[in-house]
Amino acid sequence: MTYLLNSASTFSQEAVLGFAAAHSEYVTAVHGGVVRSTETPAGQPALVIGGGSGHYPAFAGWVGPGMGHGAPCGNIFSSPSASQVYSVARNAENGGGVIMGFGNYAGDVLHFGAAAEKLRAEGVDVRIIRVSDDIASNTRENHRDRRGIAGDLPVFKIAGAAIEAGAEIDEAERIAWKANDATRSFGVAFDGCTLPGAEEPLFHVPDGTMGVGLGIHGEPGIREIPMGAAAEVADLLFEGIMEDAPEAGSGRVAVLLNGLGRVKYEELFVVYHRIAERLSEAGLTAVQPEVGEFVTSLDMAGLSLTLVFLDEELEQHWTAAVDTPAYRRGEPRGLPAHAERAPRTEFYTPGEESVPEATADSQRGAESVQEILELFAEVCATHEAELGQLDAVAGDGDHGQGMVLGSHGAVEAGRKARERGAGARTLLIHAGTAWAESAGGTSGALWGSAMTAAGRALADDAAPDSSAGVEALLNAVEAVQRLGGAQPGDKTMVDAAAPFAQTLDKQFQAQESLSAALAAAASVATEAAASTAELKARLGRSRVLGEKSLGTPDPGATSFALLMTALAERLKSVS
Ligand code: ADP
Ligand code: MG
Repeated sequence: MTYLLNSASTFSQEAVLGFAAAHSEYVTAVHGGVVRSTETPAGQPALVIGGGSGHYPAFAGWVGPGMGHGAPCGNIFSSPSASQVYSVARNAENGGGVIMGFGNYAGDVLHFGAAAEKLRAEGVDVRIIRVSDDIASNTRENHRDRRGIAGDLPVFKIAGAAIEAGAEIDEAERIAWKANDATRSFGVAFDGCTLPGAEEPLFHVPDGTMGVGLGIHGEPGIREIPMGAAAEVADLLFEGIMEDAPEAGSGRVAVLLNGLGRVKYEELFVVYHRIAERLSEAGLTAVQPEVGEFVTSLDMAGLSLTLVFLDEELEQHWTAAVDTPAYRRGEPRGLPAHAERAPRTEFYTPGEESVPEATADSQRGAESVQEILELFAEVCATHEAELGQLDAVAGDGDHGQGMVLGSHGAVEAGRKARERGAGARTLLIHAGTAWAESAGGTSGALWGSAMTAAGRALADDAAPDSSAGVEALLNAVEAVQRLGGAQPGDKTMVDAAAPFAQTLDKQFQAQESLSAALAAAASVATEAAASTAELKARLGRSRVLGEKSLGTPDPGATSFALLMTALAERLKSVS
């Protein structure tokens, strides 16, 4: 349990502030997390690593020369919001683009992805690395779909070292993925962890047993087996990983034995004693092994073993010097000494950004975009109850409310942007951010990113024409697919959006009329949304109750079709 706190709701934020105060020579707290407190070389890609709080030293503890440039810090065990990620990335970015690294969890994928959309719309090159080292969470063929646990450390260490050594964004991205593909972790837990202020642990492992493959937030493992002696646990972890080992490799491995919070260092060493024997029996050479706490889960009782199957390139970056609050290693050769690091003096604070100048044409375009946002808000308000009822069947009933809040937030942000003279592009980018933040929830993040991505097709120095309008809509659908990862048939918004985009594209190319193409596409979307009634949900919140959703159309597909129908009618009456 947590002994010391002021208030559960401010716990993670206060921890970040205290952390930054304790390590001011490395980090400064900014909105949403921390960034390096010293200047970074211009043109160097920024490695922005993060996730929920509760995992220290992951992730903020790894910000410094040779590793991270910034770390957005969410609440305990929950992803940072898109605006937190955006703010930290904005602050960390220094002309070389951004590499976002995080453990592969739905919330993180969504919120980091949404922030990436916004940065891209502003012209920043962003790459995304989802760490997926936990072999218990998916099959070997689907390594990149596994969830991330302690493998975060070696993957970010290696990526950070590559950047420090001069890698540009393409190269750093390639090496980071290579590190992830070479990394395997496997863990066991003996007892759950307790959130600050809570009386009871999040979960329990039955007495006398251990949960094999349990996730770092207590996600289901593979099985429960009788508690073993230290050497048996070591064997279990080692053998599990070796069965899954990637083929290539030099026979040299980076090794990480990670305590999750309640296992003492000496216990870990007792386990490592056996691991070392097994490594040598297997003919593997451990390279700079690490035994300790690296990716914790509050006070969870458990541990994990991570092996990175190295080649020369990975080994070079794994062993390179690094200097961060919680992870320091090697001679600081190649790294600037503390005294030589120039303190940073300028930071970005959300809300302070200027609105790019816009031509009168684009401002008129912005007015039309604002009218569309108002139309969307109207449609959402009219259908709020109906959408909520659809979502209540197999989801949590908040879809109508989410759409109302999101569209309302977008209208407000659009109005403010217009007052400041924004062009069409900037207005949509602001509206997208506001939609995601006001709505919360999965569909809010998706709609927000859709708006932002649509903005990318428009300009601040020209009036939007028909083809820009089509491109904006196609961008929006593409962003939803990229970010949410849903395929047609999963029973999501994509079931309406994908055929919508196809029809729009085809019809527009055939007839060059936006209003005709949009009318055809909207009617396809409406039919497709209705047909989702025949599908079982496989993604999102409803997947748990997938069976129950049979016979009811998907709420997100329905709202998408409603909005596109309204848009088509509006454009018809205009043209
Ligand atoms: P939440 O699920 O967070 O409560 P909402 O209730 O507002 O969010 O929205 C639910 C809708 O979100 C679903 O009906 C579905 O259409 C859409 N959705 C959920 N997950 C995805 C995804 N991965 N890709 C596309 N759409 C999704
Ligand atoms: Mg819902």
